[in-house]
Amino acid sequence: MLFGKIKILRSHGWQYIPDLKNVTLTEEFRGFPLLTETKDKGDLERAAKLCPTGALTTEPLTLDMGRCLFCGECARCAPKNIRFTNNYRIAATRREDLVVKAGQTEPVFCREAVRSDIAKYFGQTLELREVSAGGDCSVEMELNATGNVNFDFGRYGVGFTASPRHSDGLVLTGPISSNMAEALDICWNSIAEPKILVVCGSEAISGGLFADSPAVDRSFLDKYKVDLWLPGAPTHPMCFIDGISRLREKK
Ligand code: SF4
Repeated sequence: MLFGKIKILRSHGWQYIPDLKNVTLTEEFRGFPLLTETKDKGDLERAAKLCPTGALTTEPLTLDMGRCLFCGECARCAPKNIRFTNNYRIAATRREDLVVKAGQTEPVFCREAVRSDIAKYFGQTLELREVSAGGDCSVEMELNATGNVNFDFGRYGVGFTASPRHSDGLVLTGPISSNMAEALDICWNSIAEPKILVVCGSEAISGGLFADSPAVDRSFLDKYKVDLWLPGAPTHPMCFIDGISRLREKK
């Protein structure tokens, strides 16, 4: 029996990631998109019609990662114009930087937009309260994974806590259903200053597929300033780890 378990462990191999700052994801992973203009816009126009969230525009050619579900349909329809790379470093400090333009080769992470007190107060430890406001548990599962044996983000002093009173910030997931809007507000206001606000996943950033639903109330995002936007549907653990790590770095 013991030998059987050892055999299983050996077949799983070495899963722990020794250096979280130096990770390359598989080629299949859909991260930062590369957009190329061509004279013939036929494929692009078909791709834009296919896009379920309106993330893709053709005039000018842009792809909003905050609305994108990373389903890959547009890249299949217009392979000459759209290619998803495995670059997961797509976190942004400003919402507008999630909109990728034709010819852009790298994501934009504006350091000037990072509050200077974040590194001072949260550079050593950071405890976060996660609020799923109508989420489908996909982003939530990936956030859970950041603490598993593979990623073990806790070794950098980052973790999740149950109480907003014990937390240094809030991670919002889900499109913010109306019945969660008040609870979300109460949770945010229960966290002592200084604190950070992280918005995680396309549903939370833009509403995703539910953007036009009468069952969502997204006024929370009009009231409070967001420190970090993390795209993805769901957001990959490495996108979260990379974004939070860069937010905590000293300028
Ligand atoms: S990958 Fe994004 S932009 Fe392309 S079709 Fe899917 S949701 Fe739209």
